[in-house]
Amino acid sequence: MTHVPDGAPCGIYGANPACFLAAGWLSAGHPFRTGAAPEGFADRLEALIGQERAFATVDRLLQRCLGGFLCELCGEEASSSELMVPDAVAGRVWHAPQLIPHYVRAHGYLPPDGFVAAVLACPDLDDPAYQAQLVAIGGERLAGLYAASEEPDGEI
Ligand SMILES: [Zn+2]
Repeated sequence: MTHVPDGAPCGIYGANPACFLAAGWLSAGHPFRTGAAPEGFADRLEALIGQERAFATVDRLLQRCLGGFLCELCGEEASSSELMVPDAVAGRVWHAPQLIPHYVRAHGYLPPDGFVAAVLACPDLDDPAYQAQLVAIGGERLAGLYAASEEPDGEI
């Protein structure tokens, strides 16, 4: 997939690029930071990634644009969605691929410290606090991407 340096601003879905920071968009031929992540980080990251219901709408957008991702480091893991992690400290939203727990566990990848802290502090994706943080940082349009997938009956 497309390589984006860790911590770089990345615009997605027409939202303000200044709202987003990239994490874990690894690609073959581009070095990345390795090391031991704090206790519980990989587990929490996997738990958030596993909350798939929130990804439905984003999935469709990404598949239309990018056609899914393959781990370029080993070719053995594929995914087609991503995770947004609000970072109240930085006032940004981290944008990471669904493969990021695989990079951590299988390839020793150590994401930026700010991303690690944000994941450890991130509410569950169906927690209203998660939505509220996205709105505070990225506005209603960003949060609406998730709301649309959570309320298929159109409750407004
Ligand atoms: Zn891999």
